[in-house]
Amino acid sequence: MKKQNKIYDCLIIGAGPAGLSAAIYLKRASVDVAVLEMGPIGGKTNYISIVNNYLGLNNSFGPDLAMKFYEHAQANKIEFIADEVTTVTKSKDLFVITSQDDEIYYAKSIIVASGSLEKKLDLPKADIFEHKGVSYCAICDGPLYKNKDVAVIGGGNSALEEALYLSRIVNKVYLIHRRDEFRADEGIVNEVKKQKNIEVLYSSLVTALFGDTKLEAIEINGKNRIDVSALFPYIGLIPNTNFLKFDNLCNKDGYILINNNGETIVEGLFAAGDVANGPMKQIVTASADGAIASKGVLNYLQNKKWFLIAIRMFYLMLLIIIIVLSIIV
Ligand code: NAP
Repeated sequence: MKKQNKIYDCLIIGAGPAGLSAAIYLKRASVDVAVLEMGPIGGKTNYISIVNNYLGLNNSFGPDLAMKFYEHAQANKIEFIADEVTTVTKSKDLFVITSQDDEIYYAKSIIVASGSLEKKLDLPKADIFEHKGVSYCAICDGPLYKNKDVAVIGGGNSALEEALYLSRIVNKVYLIHRRDEFRADEGIVNEVKKQKNIEVLYSSLVTALFGDTKLEAIEINGKNRIDVSALFPYIGLIPNTNFLKFDNLCNKDGYILINNNGETIVEGLFAAGDVANGPMKQIVTASADGAIASKGVLNYLQNKKWFLIAIRMFYLMLLIIIIVLSIIV
């Protein structure tokens, strides 16, 4: 392990909208901050087709928006560290972060903005067919299936938005949902229903995958076979918190519990965005969460600074009293 000599005021884990927003606020407040990220800057925004609900940026292509986030961070000279965090612990007042590259980083405070990962499909062959027909990223792999038939699983915003995106590229999209009602926002549901080449299969479960070296067909409800070249499961998210070594930090679903200031039960540890238990998982709320957590960090660092000054003053006074007494006696 290579120990970094430096102690950061704040280290942010994750360079999605929450992490970047926090970094920009902290940097502008002259805090010594850096962002640790193992993937592309902009996080999941890189893998979203169209963003329609970020104020002022209607109809943005996800990767373009991610690039704008990156440029904004660069304009503020944000330090990025390309590394994967493996553990975060706290020793006395310092946070200790170990990484995949065998580094050890130290920080007075942490903002966890590590987002979430797509839930994987739990079916035989699903892992073998990943990148051979099974894909968790429509904008990355959709263009490979131009004019072909594909399927999307899920009834949330992700599934419906990506089904719409795919419908503009492929021949036909089967949208397979396990219930008879979507949980996605009404606007996107109406758009999907209007799209002629999307066939919705309600109350349907994918029960098997067929193919030799790549996906060729799927089975629905244990009986019907549908030939498809690709399958895009959008069946929910799992928050990225494995590296956090603190008890009772997360709720039963794995999301980090925060209060209105982004604080967690661990002093100096803040969380923001999709990894936290906020009421919404959106780019706009993640950005706002990041700003709120940065304010929490500023208050925390300020209070710590005054506490240290008070301690030093106390010891100085004690020393002066001892010197004076020793002179008198
Ligand atoms: P989600 O809202 O959790 O939806 C997951 C969908 O997958 C649900 O419809 C669920 O069915 C279904 N599902 C779960 N497990 C399944 C399984 N084993 N087999 C078949 N179907 C299964 O996930 P999401 O769509 O990825 O969205 C995550 C969060 O991000 C949400 O808060 C969402 O609002 C937000 N988001 C927002 C936007 C936007 O605002 N533009 C875009 C994308 C995501 P049930 O409905 O029966 O539970």
